[in-house]
Amino acid sequence: MKKHISILGSTGSIGTQALDVVRAHPGVFEIDCLTAHSNADLLIEQAVEFLPGTVVIGNEDLYDQVRSALENFPVKVYCGADAIVQMMEQESTQVVLTACVGYAGLRPTLAAIRAGKHIALANKETLVVAGELVTALAKQHGVNIYPVDSEHSAIFQCLAGEWENPVEKIYLTASGGPFRGKDREFLATATKAQALKHPNWTMGAKITIDSASLMNKGLEVIEARWLFNLQADQIDVIVHPQSIIHSIVQFQDGSMKAQMGLPDMKLPIQYALGYPKRMKSDFPRFNFLNYPTLSFEQPDRETFRNLDLAFEAMKKGGSMPCILNAANEVAVAAFLKDQIGFLAMSDLLDHCMQTVAWTAKPTYEEYVKTDQEARRIAQAFLS
Ligand code: NDP
Ligand code: MG
Repeated sequence: MKKHISILGSTGSIGTQALDVVRAHPGVFEIDCLTAHSNADLLIEQAVEFLPGTVVIGNEDLYDQVRSALENFPVKVYCGADAIVQMMEQESTQVVLTACVGYAGLRPTLAAIRAGKHIALANKETLVVAGELVTALAKQHGVNIYPVDSEHSAIFQCLAGEWENPVEKIYLTASGGPFRGKDREFLATATKAQALKHPNWTMGAKITIDSASLMNKGLEVIEARWLFNLQADQIDVIVHPQSIIHSIVQFQDGSMKAQMGLPDMKLPIQYALGYPKRMKSDFPRFNFLNYPTLSFEQPDRETFRNLDLAFEAMKKGGSMPCILNAANEVAVAAFLKDQIGFLAMSDLLDHCMQTVAWTAKPTYEEYVKTDQEARRIAQAFLS
């Protein structure tokens, strides 16, 4: 029997690599729905190749283009954010891969969980914004959340067979990004072209900037807190520039398990989609002799303030991580438009965390309001 999957954000870095995995395993997966936001040409190409029952283009202006291109194919076409949400509830779908970027992933992910779909989660912002709500809802509906993020996939793989054994702590590894070792003087004039050059991973623009500012690791700390039900003092970050060890679990007896391999997102994507099976792959294998040294160092928390801001937001809890995330999405978009300097992004986050009204136990509606308010205050800071 084929596993039925839907992909939220099939035209992005994770989405296209997920389709590479599907293509490499003919007969294993059936695609029910593919969604994109603005890349109509690629969505059409994917629809023609994979013949999903449905595609949705988020940007409504592109509906006619997609519909007419797929007129002679057995593929239904819809448009708009509401249609994306509705398509997550399709009866036949077993697993939804959430591979869209940012806060936009929250509503469709909640809909998928309510409809009882297991989640292969790449969209970490969903757990950052509303981790408490999302994990409680998943529990209520008997839904599993399989991590796609490489560090969290590593932890998940280390935990296989250890479900009854308490975790003492985890170490999330960080490459350090393109600005590892740089000081504040350098960062003050760092350009987006420099920030977009990640040493080890090719990813979408938003997460690449987040990696350069260590915000990505901060978001991942919060993501790990919810995925593995950990407290702040059980989560540590260690810089490991080679990105071979993807993360580490330390158990109560002091033993540590790490998951390693060459950096390739197709591996964690495939593990999440194929779980509990490890499917065969022809990805290049790691050769120890090519890496005689694996090195580790402390993150530079004074230069890269976002990591501590994320820990602070996580410890405060409630709506604070939602405020942090909204401010960061505005900051990254502004940095990509050359409207704000690299270091000023952290100032913007700090300002929003201190200014936006905080709630201890937000409902979904309160998260939506907080997100809007944080964006408004962030925009005002920019102008
Ligand atoms: P990309 O920018 O490459 O892709 C984003 C995808 O989301 C595209 O399909 C895009 O559509 C779609 N999208 C954009 N805006 C919206 C919206 N408002 N509503 C619905 N869909 C939208 O991002 P990545 O693939 O790099 O990242 C996706 C997620 O996975 C992020 O949360 C990221 O943090 C996480 N992740 C990514 C990793 C990576 O290696 N790339 C690693 C670990 C986690 P379109 O292109 O058609 O506009
Ligand atoms: Mg990661």
